Amino acid sequence: MIQGDYEEIADMLRSHGLQVTSQRILIYDYLVHTNKHPSAQQVFEDVFESLPGISKATVYNTLETLSTHGLIQKINPQSGVTRYDGNTSVHSHLICTECHRIIDYFDDALFSMQVPETLWTGFEIKRTCVIFYGVCEECRNKMEDRGDKKGAKATRQVMPLKRNQRKVDAWLTMKVKE
Ligand SMILES: [Zn+2]
Ligand SMILES: [Zn+2]
Repeated sequence: MIQGDYEEIADMLRSHGLQVTSQRILIYDYLVHTNKHPSAQQVFEDVFESLPGISKATVYNTLETLSTHGLIQKINPQSGVTRYDGNTSVHSHLICTECHRIIDYFDDALFSMQVPETLWTGFEIKRTCVIFYGVCEECRNKMEDRGDKKGAKATRQVMPLKRNQRKVDAWLTMKVKE
């Protein structure tokens, strides 16, 4: 890592009234250079080498401070632990319910949605987050290889619908003939 980047991060921390510490610089730098949306535990494991002796509590506190100041964003999945994202630009996330991988998804249209006026009641929107839950390609392939019920179900679901469609078509044809 070049010194220039650290200087920029130090300036940014100062502009938020935060004390410049090596922990804050390195954890922030790590988060803006990864797209794996790590948990606090993952951050701890990944920064341990560059910050020997750092405690889990320090990692948690640093993440908390950085997110309070809007320098990183928190992602709270429906199930599982909080994850952290060094990319604070407006984007949404695809979360795999099998391997818990989080994939960035950029589409401004998702954030231009207008809340109906009837729902306004003076509520001011500060931040919008869009999360899609599903199964990633890698997990779907693994499921298919295993003949997993969940994976197989996805392909089977189409069948009864098609059959019903045919029944309705047949019934319609009869009706027309009558
Ligand atoms: Zn997955
Ligand atoms: Zn992200």
